[in-house]
Amino acid sequence: MSVFDHPEFDKHEHVAFYHDEEAGLKAIIAVHNTNLGPALGGCRMWPYINSAEALNDVLRLSKGMTYKAAMANLKLGGGKSVIIGDPRKMKTPAMMRAMGRFVDSLGGKYFTAEDSGIAVTDLQEMATQSEFIAGTSAKYHYAGETPDGNPAPSTAYGVFVGLRSTVEYALNSDLKGIKVAIQGMGHVGYRLAQHLHNAGAQLFVTDIYPDGIERAVSELGATAVAPEDIYGLDVDVIAPCAMGASINDETLPDIKAKVIAGAANNQLAREEMGELLRKRGIVYAPDYVINAGGVIDIYHQRMEQSSNEAMRTHIEEIGITLKEIFERADKEDKATNRVANVIAQERFTNKA
Ligand code: NAD
Repeated sequence: MSVFDHPEFDKHEHVAFYHDEEAGLKAIIAVHNTNLGPALGGCRMWPYINSAEALNDVLRLSKGMTYKAAMANLKLGGGKSVIIGDPRKMKTPAMMRAMGRFVDSLGGKYFTAEDSGIAVTDLQEMATQSEFIAGTSAKYHYAGETPDGNPAPSTAYGVFVGLRSTVEYALNSDLKGIKVAIQGMGHVGYRLAQHLHNAGAQLFVTDIYPDGIERAVSELGATAVAPEDIYGLDVDVIAPCAMGASINDETLPDIKAKVIAGAANNQLAREEMGELLRKRGIVYAPDYVINAGGVIDIYHQRMEQSSNEAMRTHIEEIGITLKEIFERADKEDKATNRVANVIAQERFTNKA
């Protein structure tokens, strides 16, 4: 199989394949771009049907990390690793140690962290073999949360700051009385709801499980709605905090909100949705920009000298970056997702 002719290949610097028979490990690391610094990106373990599918994922995701790091003002590049296999059936400590040796073999060009199928305990196992493993512990934290390596509190705070800045730009308003519909009451969605409640927003929440909804109703005075009703609500903001592709041809016609700002990855079913949103007068906060609080958190945890305050200030830059995107999108009459990509490319190709 050719990597250079692969449709997802985009000037990737380094793609490495690794096999450790004894440990049962088959894995790929892709380093997309290191102009701004060493590549950071999670390790995903997934039951890919074949190595072609795994290669597709690692090429696509590593490129996404370059864009994300550039927009988050990080001195980092983009990379990703994938392990082929079912994490519930095939994962062993020996396999994680083998993965640690694989990461180590790139000599610091690539740092790994958590992604689907990989837990902090797996990273700790990898870290016995390599110093290039991030997200194994946490020194700094946001707003009194116990630092345990889970970046969700920082992601939620970044989404809150970004949502506030999007509302200021699009609706010329602060958050008091603003109606926000949150899709997904998980690690990020619930914390976002808490921030919004404290800022005086009126909340509408949904999930496919009742626990988070019930808590939001009783603790934050939120209104519970059915998952299928979230798009058509008469609200100011929709915050997708569940799964990808929630903005698609089916849901877009129902949307009455003028702002879309949430944590989920890959919110647009396809890139052209950006132009369709713009035509409808809906301001979309590009997902990989607004949800970068987690990667900023991981970066600060790795720094020798940082502080809660420095991490918080860095996360707050998300609001400034979004305004830069919105202003340029209006000036050039372009979709915000396209403008974000162009600014990211400018940043990582014209390194300072
Ligand atoms: P999570 O799994 O804790 O929460 C997701 C919630 O969405 C769950 O409660 C789930 O029941 C709910 N859900 C799933 N399908 C739904 C549907 N159709 N309708 C309504 N609710 C539904 O995940 P999380 O850590 O809170 O992350 C939320 C999103 O943000 C994900 O897309 C994730 O990739 C993205 N993200 C998370 C982080 C982070 O730091 N955790 C960082 C960047 C991006």
